[in-house]
Amino acid sequence: MSDWIYLDNNATTQMDDRVVEAMLPFLRDQYANPSSVHHFGQQVRHAVETAREQAAAALNVRPRQIIFTGGGTEANHLAILGTLALQPHRRHVVTTAVEHDSVRRLMKRLEDDGYRVTRLDVDSLGRLDPAAFESALADDTAIATIMHANNETGVIFPIEQLGEIAAARGIPFHTDATQTLGKLPIDAKQLPVGLLTFASHKIHGPKGVGIVCLQRGTYLQPQIVGGHQERDLRAGTENVAGIVGAGLAMQLAVEHLHEETTRVAAMRDRMEAGVLKRVPIAHVNGDREHRLPNTTNIGFEALEAEAILMLLSQQGVCASSGSACSSGSLEPSHVLEAMGIEERIAHGAIRFSLSRFNTDAEIDRALEIIPSAIGKLQALQLNESPTISTG
Ligand code: PLP
Repeated sequence: MSDWIYLDNNATTQMDDRVVEAMLPFLRDQYANPSSVHHFGQQVRHAVETAREQAAAALNVRPRQIIFTGGGTEANHLAILGTLALQPHRRHVVTTAVEHDSVRRLMKRLEDDGYRVTRLDVDSLGRLDPAAFESALADDTAIATIMHANNETGVIFPIEQLGEIAAARGIPFHTDATQTLGKLPIDAKQLPVGLLTFASHKIHGPKGVGIVCLQRGTYLQPQIVGGHQERDLRAGTENVAGIVGAGLAMQLAVEHLHEETTRVAAMRDRMEAGVLKRVPIAHVNGDREHRLPNTTNIGFEALEAEAILMLLSQQGVCASSGSACSSGSLEPSHVLEAMGIEERIAHGAIRFSLSRFNTDAEIDRALEIIPSAIGKLQALQLNESPTISTG
């Protein structure tokens, strides 16, 4: 147990004890290679296939539609590059300006390789216009890759509608659903989405396990070749303990979905309202109506996110900002930039992301710590501001 008030669950989550317990035998005694023919190996194979069944049931698909990878980033790469490789003559990709870096930086690389990439803008609330999506599709569009919900703001995109538009044009559609499993209901069988990707560590499972869910009739070219694991779609001896943990974590995520959308949402709302009430310079970034139940992105006017995070950390509160510290200067988050959020608010933007492991008592405590930290920084700023010379 730790004393941290952990409000950084979109970065990663605490593992569920049941997941840890399920994994332990595969780190100790059940070490055989699941591809081995002997009975010991086959016992381990059975555990991998049970995890695949759990993952499939969580998404309402069949087990053969699930491919385990080495994390969310790798799952995104397999979904996107594996789709592109099967259509070498199509050289156009549609995406958004607010994707996670694992997609965003891949898009940059595709451009360097000669692809045309259309990045759709979002409005000031982080919303995407389906009509703009439709008009961005071209005859040689090889894939549209649009995240399900944004990791920084929690804003949800209408992937059902977008998937239908893409399907009507015969264009493969991928959604990075890393942030939505366990927070929104996902019935992959009903969704008009060819490829969905997930990461187990966002749902109280282990790090380093990703999932690609392939719709029936959707094909991929493997990006890692070698052994025949994962139906030849992802070579390499399986991370058995990780996969066992991921399967159970997916099952538990669905079982706890109701709690996530009620108790966790209520804690998030109470925290957000409390901060807005006590801190007049606080502004919520993003569409509050279509948003993940656990996330709030709050910009504190004219303050630096890094200073806020450090002060909160000293008081035991863990949160994040979307800013990247590059060459000493704090770059504003590309997501808030795409939303056109004023720099003075974007620079002081903090993402608070909750989970079912948070308690009301922690939120009470956070509601004391956050306003006092902001107050301290404002006072410091007042004392430090240079006197204006008129001479
Ligand atoms: N996609 C989104 C939306 C994410 O939030 C993350 C993790 O931060 C990833 C992909 C990458 O997942 P991983 O860190 O497991 O590679």
